[in-house]
Amino acid sequence: MRLSIVVPCYNEEAVIDRFDARIRETLDALNVDYELCYVDDGSRDGTLDKLRALAVNREASTRYVSFSRNFGKEAGILAGLREATGDAVVIMDADLQHPPELIGKMLELHRDGHDQIIARRTREGDKRLRTAISRLYYRVINKWVDVELTDGVGDFRLLSRRAVDALLSMPEYNRFSKGLFSWIGFDTVTFDYRNAAREAGETKWRFGSLVNYGMDGLISFNNRPLRLAIYIGMALASIAALYAVVVTVLAMIEGPDAPGYVTLLVAVVGLGGLQMLMLGLIGEYIGRIYYETKQRPHFLVKETNTPRSFAAGVEATEHAVPSRLEMR
Ligand code: UDP
Ligand code: MG
Repeated sequence: MRLSIVVPCYNEEAVIDRFDARIRETLDALNVDYELCYVDDGSRDGTLDKLRALAVNREASTRYVSFSRNFGKEAGILAGLREATGDAVVIMDADLQHPPELIGKMLELHRDGHDQIIARRTREGDKRLRTAISRLYYRVINKWVDVELTDGVGDFRLLSRRAVDALLSMPEYNRFSKGLFSWIGFDTVTFDYRNAAREAGETKWRFGSLVNYGMDGLISFNNRPLRLAIYIGMALASIAALYAVVVTVLAMIEGPDAPGYVTLLVAVVGLGGLQMLMLGLIGEYIGRIYYETKQRPHFLVKETNTPRSFAAGVEATEHAVPSRLEMR
């Protein structure tokens, strides 16, 4: 059995060597045949130089792909999965927040026949506010999305070959991998681990990107928000009809009544706001359709040490290439 480790790296020069040493030490101890698939996501620091050096030193077991610019972690994971040739693939961060020691346990569970082995981080040591917001978010979102999203579950997981092939068969441009992982299903197990602090370098997440990520989660996997818009519209229309009846009846009994501009103003402004919100929501979906129809590649490759898979410098599009074998 051969194990592939997929590692998306963006500006990780400070930690990449340490990661490489730690992971090799762990895998050697486990006595498995492995390859490391690094993806340099358009780093601006010396990450690519370090990857080149690693590839030279440990030729056979190190592959790297370097993007022409920063395409985001999702694209990095996709490139790594395409690159991986192993019978099982582990996806990990480069910053050593995902303890390599857990791979042994993952392999054990994989041998028991599971296809997705997920390491779920506990929120110990996180800021309380952040934890509370995350909990609330997941509680709300699971009412609204079609796939189940779990708090603390990230990209750190082992995937069997058929799970990887299932992921690769999904050509969509907007890749919300948490949702994709959950969507493919298969035999899944989860275990908890204590989150480690980042070894070096800094996190790429800002508060704004977390909010955007949250929106992606809500919209990527279903059209229930659109359904909600319809329900709100129906509720408001019913209230308006009822109110019209009340006002008319009152006017017939007591004669017309002029005051009430506050009610009017509140209704106009409130409804205007709600309409903008729903328009924005619809716009989000249309924007996604727009991006999907372009069928652009998910990433562009600038450099790699495995030219056979990315010969043209451009990823093969799934539409043009029917099977994985032909792609290679
Ligand atoms: N990453 C990436 N592209 C990006 C941002 C991040 O490939 O645009 C990688 C990064 O190098 C790291 C992993 O994704 O290996 C997780 O990033 P980070 O540690 O910043 O996120 P956090 O652990 O804080 O959620
Ligand atoms: Mg991290």
